[in-house]
Amino acid sequence: MPDSGPIFERITLIGVGLIGSSIARAVRAKGAARTIVATARSAKTRERVRELKIADQVAETNAAAVKNADLVIVSIPVGASGEVAKEIASSLKAGAIVSDAGSVKSAVIKEMAPHLPKNVHFVPAHPVAGTEFSGPDAGFAELFENRWCILTPPAGTEQTAVERLKLFWETIGANVEVMDAEHHDLVLAITSHLPHLIAYNIVGTAADLETHTRSEVIKFSAGGFRDFTRIAASDPTMWRDIFLHNRDAVLEILSRFNKDLDALVNAIKAGDGQTLFDTFTRTRAIRKSIIEVGQDTAEPDFGRRQGTGEEVAIPRPYASD
Ligand code: NAP
Repeated sequence: MPDSGPIFERITLIGVGLIGSSIARAVRAKGAARTIVATARSAKTRERVRELKIADQVAETNAAAVKNADLVIVSIPVGASGEVAKEIASSLKAGAIVSDAGSVKSAVIKEMAPHLPKNVHFVPAHPVAGTEFSGPDAGFAELFENRWCILTPPAGTEQTAVERLKLFWETIGANVEVMDAEHHDLVLAITSHLPHLIAYNIVGTAADLETHTRSEVIKFSAGGFRDFTRIAASDPTMWRDIFLHNRDAVLEILSRFNKDLDALVNAIKAGDGQTLFDTFTRTRAIRKSIIEVGQDTAEPDFGRRQGTGEEVAIPRPYASD
């Protein structure tokens, strides 16, 4: 436990997949809360959470789970967040902080805020950390170590609540930044949402090729294509909801992307090697700066141990989100 003791007496996690179960494990490891209450939509997941012993209590309903909680974190697909806010609204303790982990912020605020009572603090959050795996078994306590967690409090949110949630995320390993929800959505559209769309598209195109070609795609899948398949293995429900709820920012970024792609197509058509070389040189420098700020490893193949079967066992927090 940190010297100052737990940040919250009682926290409730609604949704115990990759993110919720990682929060539970990290909170336990760092002593960030005295009591962890968890709940999930299905009886199967609730049972698994009991077996894993990652929460102190497992509640049967969302409303029962939030009773007396000082912090509630909703970690479910963003399209379901409004419904859950409605369900928990009348059971929340006065003064509680309500937060989430959704990868899109403006839409979540629009859907959750109207249901929440005036006597709670709503501080939406997005831990920019993930893998392509889902469910309570996929989480691990170190997921948020040295990753960013972005808080997007709506205008008028009490600063003390923002500071407390910031301290909570820092205690479980994250670096915290506060920003406007619209700005968050635009930045994440380019750094996360567009790369996922490209991965889904490239793997989908390969899958549509005729059978014998497809088997060769899998056979020769070392290198670039294999990394796209990993991203394209991310949860379909979560990503459907992200694109539907960050529509405007994704479309804006896609139109810029299409323009840049057209420029590359034209350079290839015209045999303009200089343009290709200059573009690839510029992008190489960006990779270097990401490594310099500690957001990735310089090891070949992202540090995966080839052929050992351990590729998926190595935590790769920067992998999916
Ligand atoms: P996950 O592993 O698939 O877990 C999802 C959880 O949400 C499960 O507990 C599931 O319950 C519950 N759930 C699913 N649909 C629901 C619904 N309609 N109503 C209520 N509960 C529902 O997902 P995750 O990766 O933890 O993602 C959770 C949130 O974190 C998403 O909003 C996502 O955008 C965000 N996020 C994800 C990542 C990432 O890389 N994965 C990173 C940062 C933020 P059952 O198991 O009972 O079905």
